[in-house]
Amino acid sequence: MSRASEAKLPAPKSEEFVFGDWTLRVVKSHIMGSQCEASTECTDETEVEKLCNLCRYERLLTLPSLPDMVFANNLLQIKHKSGGSISFSALSALQCVNDQEDTLQVAHAEVWKEARADCEFAQKVVKPYDWTYTTDFQGMLAGGLKAEATTERIDLDKLRVREEIKFYEEIFLYEDELDDNGSTRCVVKVRVMPSGFFVVFRHYLRVDQVIVRVNDTRLYSPVGASHILRESSTREAPIPKLQVDSSLYNNPDLVWQYLPLVKEKVDKIVVES
Ligand SMILES: [Zn+2]
Repeated sequence: MSRASEAKLPAPKSEEFVFGDWTLRVVKSHIMGSQCEASTECTDETEVEKLCNLCRYERLLTLPSLPDMVFANNLLQIKHKSGGSISFSALSALQCVNDQEDTLQVAHAEVWKEARADCEFAQKVVKPYDWTYTTDFQGMLAGGLKAEATTERIDLDKLRVREEIKFYEEIFLYEDELDDNGSTRCVVKVRVMPSGFFVVFRHYLRVDQVIVRVNDTRLYSPVGASHILRESSTREAPIPKLQVDSSLYNNPDLVWQYLPLVKEKVDKIVVES
């Protein structure tokens, strides 16, 4: 059995950008393999921190399967000088996927049954779980950052003003073509401008003939601030009711504005005093 480590995969690339009291760290690497990557294979006794990516995912996740493409090393971490941070990784995003229930089946039973009639998933599924890998992850808070209620909103008009881009990265977390029945994709983008930094964490789902759904979490912190505004939303529409061209609903970056808002949550991330 050949292991990934023997193929000498490139080491993850890590970058940092300092913006006021915040340090933005980006790690980008290759897709996780489908076999144990450890030079001496992981066992049930291996401590979590010492497991290879695949074995760590299998240990920590309760999902019966993983998306085809998982970027296990990829990371966006935004750290305040006080030590607190908010971060985005595939593992944390997948930990928010429903591992008990096939929620799409419930919501769209009729169209779903037709669309899925000759889909391999129907045979694959041993126990019900959300096979679309939809996540409502909003970023993992650690080390003294906390979320509190707010009435403030991200000023989207201000963000539309053309500005110099000081730093920009797009970080893929996971993706799967759902056995050619659509697409599920989780990506986080970060942009730093003189006026502040802006992050969009987006889960996009399309099940052909059934549904398009976009779960977004946006972060914005104006220059000089020690807080981050966070807005999370779910937008979705059944495809038969969507009055837009398929070239639009196949594009996560365009379709979200055509989808009705289903759910929204706004809060403010602050340093614990
Ligand atoms: Zn392993």
